This record gives sequence, C-alpha cells and structure tokens, in this order.
Amino acid sequence: MTSRCSRCGSTSFRADRSLGGRLVCSHCGTPVDQRGGRVRRAAVTSGQKGLAFWLVVAAIALLLVIVIQSI
Ligand SMILES: [Zn+2]
Repeated sequence: MTSRCSRCGSTSFRADRSLGGRLVCSHCGTPVDQRGGRVRRAAVTSGQKGLAFWLVVAAIALLLVIVIQSI
C-alpha cells in the first residue's frame, strides 16, 4: 500500500507474469523489491528528498543574497 516505484515514484503497480507474478511499476516497468526493509527504504527515500529540498532552498537563498547585493 505504501510502496512506491524506486525509479519514478509511482504508486500504481501491476503483476508481471514474465517475472513470476512480481509487481512491476505500471509506468516504467521497474520491478518492485518486496524483500524486507520496506519502511527503511521509504525512510531513505524521504531522507534523500528532504536533503534535495534543503539543497534547493539553500541555492535559492544564495541566489537571493547575490541578487540583493548586486542591486
Ligand atoms: Zn516506475
């Protein structure tokens, strides 16, 4: 229910018979790794997204400082 595609982040999956009924992403076809650590994987993913978010915020703040000082 809470699993997401590790490549495109989609939450819709379908069972692929060629992979023995494993769930694959319905968007990009990436097989879902269902073996263990689903919560841990989600935590790592959200942590990476959080880091990317703060990097963007820092970049915007830096640009604002440069723009303000150049006026
Ligand atoms: Zn996908």
